[in-house]
Amino acid sequence: MKTFKQVYNDADNKVHGIAAAPGIVIGKVYLFTKEKLEINDSEVTNVEEAKSDLEEALKQSKKELTKVFSIAREKMDATRSAIFEAQLMILDDPVLLKSIEERIEKEKRQPEYVVFDEITKYQDIMKHSREAYINERAHDIDDIKNRIIRNLQKKRWQSRITKDTIVVSDMLTPADTLLLSRSNVKGFVTDHGGLTSHAAIISRSLNIPAVVGTHDITKHIKENDTIIVDGFHGYVLINPTKEQKEFFTSKFEHLVELQKGLEEFKDKPALTKDGREILLYANVDVSGEIDVVVTSGANGIGLYRTEQILEELSEFPTEDEQVKIYSNLSSRIYPNILTIRAFDIGGDKFRLSESTEANPFLGLRGIRLLLENPSLFRTQIRAVLKASQNRNIRFMLPMVSTIMEIKKAKAIIHECEEELKKENCSFDRHFKMGIMVEVPAAAVMTKEFSKEVDFLSIGTNDLIQYLMAVDRGNDLVSDLYQEFSPAVLRTIYHILTAAKESKKEVSFCGEMAADTLAIPLLVGLGATSLSMSPATIPYAKRIIRYLNYEHAKQLAQDCLNCTNEVEVIRLIEKFFKDHSITRTRQII
Ligand code: PEP
Ligand code: MG
Repeated sequence: MKTFKQVYNDADNKVHGIAAAPGIVIGKVYLFTKEKLEINDSEVTNVEEAKSDLEEALKQSKKELTKVFSIAREKMDATRSAIFEAQLMILDDPVLLKSIEERIEKEKRQPEYVVFDEITKYQDIMKHSREAYINERAHDIDDIKNRIIRNLQKKRWQSRITKDTIVVSDMLTPADTLLLSRSNVKGFVTDHGGLTSHAAIISRSLNIPAVVGTHDITKHIKENDTIIVDGFHGYVLINPTKEQKEFFTSKFEHLVELQKGLEEFKDKPALTKDGREILLYANVDVSGEIDVVVTSGANGIGLYRTEQILEELSEFPTEDEQVKIYSNLSSRIYPNILTIRAFDIGGDKFRLSESTEANPFLGLRGIRLLLENPSLFRTQIRAVLKASQNRNIRFMLPMVSTIMEIKKAKAIIHECEEELKKENCSFDRHFKMGIMVEVPAAAVMTKEFSKEVDFLSIGTNDLIQYLMAVDRGNDLVSDLYQEFSPAVLRTIYHILTAAKESKKEVSFCGEMAADTLAIPLLVGLGATSLSMSPATIPYAKRIIRYLNYEHAKQLAQDCLNCTNEVEVIRLIEKFFKDHSITRTRQII
């Protein structure tokens, strides 16, 4: 059978986009277009009537959005449904509403024109931002702007569509995505939008495969065309050939089978055949994933990327808000462990300001930025401590490169603990603190650093990037980004060996831990705990349960002696074959 790569290479009916929500789906297209709203810019003759029309339209918009918000709360967690709460707040923004009213009075222009103009001004500022998430929020505001204008024109929009179709659209607002999902939509494809677009976030949350950012697919597609959406690789095939249909139908069926088969591993430990247990933790990016974690058979949360809260809220949550988020997660996962990583701001992630750095990945990122902004850091530490009453929370610092960073952070944590004692707030008195090992300097200094902390977690995503001097998001050099490079393996081996002396736990939380090909190697190198996206846990568990630790150890030794990644991969593939272990990538 062909591979995905071969199928896509051979296809001239493919459109490439961004894989926004995983899954494969074949179905008929529903072209979702919205009538373009014409803005009436004639003079207003009766200002009072215009103002009362505006009031009425705002009231109706509020009613509609409140309904959307209540559906969102039913279907999604609080953080994600907050998207709609934020839109409702715009409807109540006194400054915005006052300036719209004043302009109607002074300029005697139609309310719809003034609404359009005022809200567009806000959006323009946001669209000029270099931050992807601020750009996306500007698109979200389109929804509220068009909603008010449509209500001023007393028009209705349809949100119910032909059932069981794949919705293809120029772009989708969060409300569209949510409301359309009620008609059993099988997939979403959009010309615009990125991974952080709310339509993408909502698709992931609702488990609907999606490909976004296809640029102009709406120009090549007609209503009722059949398409295949591959949310794993980010491709759409338009009117697939018989051969393509057969290929994807069999992949889809395999996927369903695989998921059924994996169920049996859920409550079993990840134990090698010769009895070595590997703890499998979940990486959590958004709190909504917690349900998947709870049902995935994870031993706990090995990485909670708190900067994602900032991406979703677009602002810093207060101490109380953070306490609420962390306490909820801690209770849901109890008695398992929740590893909260301090805000990893900077690099390619959420940034604090518009100021640009020539080299953001080598700049003010992670712990460096937190130490420069102590009040922000303290707020998070206090919140984590206050939420730690269940005694299942531990705290982790990102991007550590010097021992002084660890010492300074510990001093701040200590001060916060003293403050809370004075305030009579209870918290875990044995609160554990660890670091990410993701900068080569930290890897080299593992022996010394591990004496300062309670645990370590190897972040292979950044470790590979910094070790190989290759931007993890740059296509031009992606060939150099090799997790199987002997340089990477030897560094990992050094970290594991150096940490052994101080008997500190070392976990893995980069994508390498979720690569089924890498798992025997990591186990053989000495890994005892891996953290990965919750959906991949059953796949990892299955591989580990088919493994023999002694064999894996030999594999690791052989790989450490290799001179390049091609040799390493060959050895691992041979290992899978020799021991008759099948893995996900061979199947899907
Ligand atoms: C890593 O660098 O491997 C990691 C887990 O952190 P992030 O991907 O969030 O940078
Ligand atoms: Mg990292």
